[in-house]
Amino acid sequence: MTARGWRPEASSCRADLDDFAALYAKTPDATVVAGATDVGLWVTKRFRAIAPAIFIGGIAELKAIGEAKGVLSLGAGVSYSEARTALASRIPAFAALIDRIGGEQVRNMGTLGGNIANGSPIGDTAPALIALGATLVLRKGAKRRRMAIEDFFIAYGKQDRQKGEFVEAVDVPIPAAGTHVAFHKVSKRRDEDITSTLGAFAIAINGGKVTSARIAYGGMAATPKRAKAVEAALVGKPWTRATVEAAMAGYDKDFAPISDMRASAGYRMLAARNLLLRVFLETTSGKKPVTVKRREAA
Ligand SMILES: Cc1cc2nc3c(=O)[nH]c(=O)nc-3n(C[C@H](O)[C@H](O)[C@H](O)COP(=O)(O)OP(=O)(O)OC[C@H]3O[C@@H](n4cnc5c(N)ncnc54)[C@H](O)[C@@H]3O)c2cc1C
Repeated sequence: MTARGWRPEASSCRADLDDFAALYAKTPDATVVAGATDVGLWVTKRFRAIAPAIFIGGIAELKAIGEAKGVLSLGAGVSYSEARTALASRIPAFAALIDRIGGEQVRNMGTLGGNIANGSPIGDTAPALIALGATLVLRKGAKRRRMAIEDFFIAYGKQDRQKGEFVEAVDVPIPAAGTHVAFHKVSKRRDEDITSTLGAFAIAINGGKVTSARIAYGGMAATPKRAKAVEAALVGKPWTRATVEAAMAGYDKDFAPISDMRASAGYRMLAARNLLLRVFLETTSGKKPVTVKRREAA
């Protein structure tokens, strides 16, 4: 009881994950709203009616973060800022990438699930998650299925998600020692800017040879996409500048980007190739990579 009268117990008024799963399966045309950093703009800029809407921001289970057997599991409702804290010690390059997403307000509200489910070809987390070999947990009602995140993005605006199905979590393998992980976002401004191209690299080098390579890009195709021809040209070869320059021919097979107000197709191709060269130099020159910081630590 409060001074004003009866107050329901938190447990009796707060919806949980099962409630949401059942409700969404029953009303699959509802708009799921998480951090609303995308959906909010549909309303304020496009005057779109979003009712009925299901707000999932208060569902504790979607905020779960856990680690087991070398895999970091992040609930779909984990905000960028929360993910950054979890990733900082495990996959530092991912934490650094999150610093390049939006501004603080967007990072505090925007969620990983929203960034994946919106299916944008320039969403910043998807290429990184593809390069890391992450797995999505999708759920409809009580039924769950898992899929490699790279298979989720089918075509522009089309994802492998059924009506009433939602993203519950993403499982991210922590890269093995000896794997060089780098995520480089190219945009006109450092902060609050949309990606022109983003290269995500997980390249394992053992005994001077490339033993595995997963490379994915945003902004280079209608979906976030792996650079499979480039990867194939690297694996099994010595990690040398000559190998890297030869592998660059693969970009023409992997990508045919468009020109738009953010960058021309030619710029995107050149930047994408040079990001691979940058990764090579980062791993071999012994010099610290040049990064532009918004503010220096005190
Ligand atoms: C100023 C500004 C700057 C931004 N900068 C960047 C940037 O630098 N990089 C970047 O990648 N993005 C950026 N964004 C876009 C946005 O922040 C992200 O896409 C964000 O991750 C969306 O998450 P959200 O929780 O806000 O999603 P919402 O807006 O709530 O939802 C987005 C979409 O996903 C669906 N959805 C949400 N959660 C789920 C779920 N669990 N299962 C199924 N469907 C779901 C919604 O129905 C909707 O279709 C920016 C946005 C703004 C407004």
